[in-house]
Amino acid sequence: MRVVGDAVRQAARRHGVRGHVAEEIAYDALAAAGVFNEPPQPEPDTCTAQYLPHDPDAYEPDMLGVWQQCEDDPGHDGRHDAGEASWPEGAPGSIPPGAPS
Ligand SMILES: [Zn+2]
Repeated sequence: MRVVGDAVRQAARRHGVRGHVAEEIAYDALAAAGVFNEPPQPEPDTCTAQYLPHDPDAYEPDMLGVWQQCEDDPGHDGRHDAGEASWPEGAPGSIPPGAPS
């Protein structure tokens, strides 16, 4: 996804849009178009929130595009946490706990 990230940042500079705004729009569009791979069936023993790391500035290449599942107890408060990745509820590229799959 590094190619996509670079393209988004270049387009954002050309058009004077803030980079993180452009990235959210681009990744939401890619997700809606089904470019991102489908999330796996979540394991039932922990919180079932899932997240697809997509920011090359925040994650190592081996994490990008690999679905992560929250490891906290079901129904917990605060950020979801999968060890190497954590995310707030509603983050772009995330699926809330209990979402139909
Ligand atoms: Zn969680």
